[in-house]
Amino acid sequence: MEKKRITILGSTGSIGTQALEVIEKINDKFEIVGLTAGNNVSLLKEQIIKFKPSVVCVGSEEAKNELKQEFSSLKILSGSEGLVEVCSDKTLDLLVVAVSGKIGLRPTLTAIDNGINIALANKETLVMAGDIVMKRAKDKGVPILPIDSEHCAIHQCIKNIADVRKLIITASGGPFLNKTLEDIKQATVAQTLAHPNWNMGRKITVDSATLMNKGLEVIEAHHLFSMDYSNIDVVVHPQSIIHSAIEYKDGSVIAQIGVPSMHIPIQYAITYPNRVEGVKTASFDFVKARQFDFFAPDFEKFPCLKMAYEAGKIGGSSTVCLNAANEEAVFAFLEDKIKLFNIAEIVEEMMAKHTVVKNPTIDEIFEIDNEIRVKTREFINK
Ligand code: NDP
Ligand code: MG
Repeated sequence: MEKKRITILGSTGSIGTQALEVIEKINDKFEIVGLTAGNNVSLLKEQIIKFKPSVVCVGSEEAKNELKQEFSSLKILSGSEGLVEVCSDKTLDLLVVAVSGKIGLRPTLTAIDNGINIALANKETLVMAGDIVMKRAKDKGVPILPIDSEHCAIHQCIKNIADVRKLIITASGGPFLNKTLEDIKQATVAQTLAHPNWNMGRKITVDSATLMNKGLEVIEAHHLFSMDYSNIDVVVHPQSIIHSAIEYKDGSVIAQIGVPSMHIPIQYAITYPNRVEGVKTASFDFVKARQFDFFAPDFEKFPCLKMAYEAGKIGGSSTVCLNAANEEAVFAFLEDKIKLFNIAEIVEEMMAKHTVVKNPTIDEIFEIDNEIRVKTREFINK
């Protein structure tokens, strides 16, 4: 079988490095064409030597110049235009979108326009522009395979979407599940970054602590599976063994179960519809697991989840506002400028002030995103 030509956006991140670990194990199936990083030039250098891509892209001109000295014959691009150029290569079979934040949106659209299949980790792409992205993918016949573990689980459970009554997204509950609202208000950055079950990038780890991550995932699920918000439930399941479930109209519930490892959904997304033996993950042992727990999410302690549902239901630019205000607030929290619970308060304030644009174009989405970020930073600095 001919090797699939694959490019990874964000190869130096948590998902990106794990995607490369998967590909290393099944390297007879893939040829790495492109790798991209933001600032982590030293890791990218190691990846270039190991995987021999024909093009790379980095976040800045400085990083580009540094790489040029060592890899004079390699095609080296930079910035967001560089990412878009990487995705304009029509000979690519598959693009893994593992950058974090809004930077993922334009390159993903470019890849779709070029008929390149997408394995999508970057949920912000769908939160910001799910209607446009899914429509373009449908028009082009480009499949979008989710890497996010919950959506991968749902994808694995669905046989015929028309028979599905509802989606049940599981949430670990994050590090503050059993803490009081007062504890959450006092939470430090270190406590917030200590996620019980998953080792992820900093931004998504903070989102997991506020349950905004789950809220973004509800919006992501709405777009990926065209499911009404009233038919998407969230249940807290601290063991992170059931990765999500669906309920069919006949009452049958199908769940996807496994040890918590991102290798599994990454490998599923890039090898679909095949199943392969790749990275060795421990076998799941029901007897050892003994017990699965489930709780309803607490909207008072975690208002971000509620706000995400509301934004999703309103639609249009309100999820752009939610995402931008949250991301800026998370950055401010990571810089110790605000407390953890302020994130929800800031998002609430920005949402209340936002005038919703119904069917924004991509350019309008970026304009609104920018405007909300400026306003959020002003509000934080006040
Ligand atoms: P990381 O922060 O670990 O990695 C982000 C990657 O994007 C890095 O390669 C980083 O480069 C690159 N990057 C960031 N900003 C820019 C920029 N402005 N320009 C170019 N490159 C940039 O994040 P994760 O891997 O945790 O998450 C990636 C995406 O996947 C997110 O959207 C997240 O929500 C989603 N996701 C992650 C999961 C996980 O388990 N980690 C699970 C489900 C979804 P560098 O480091 O070189 O600066
Ligand atoms: Mg997830």
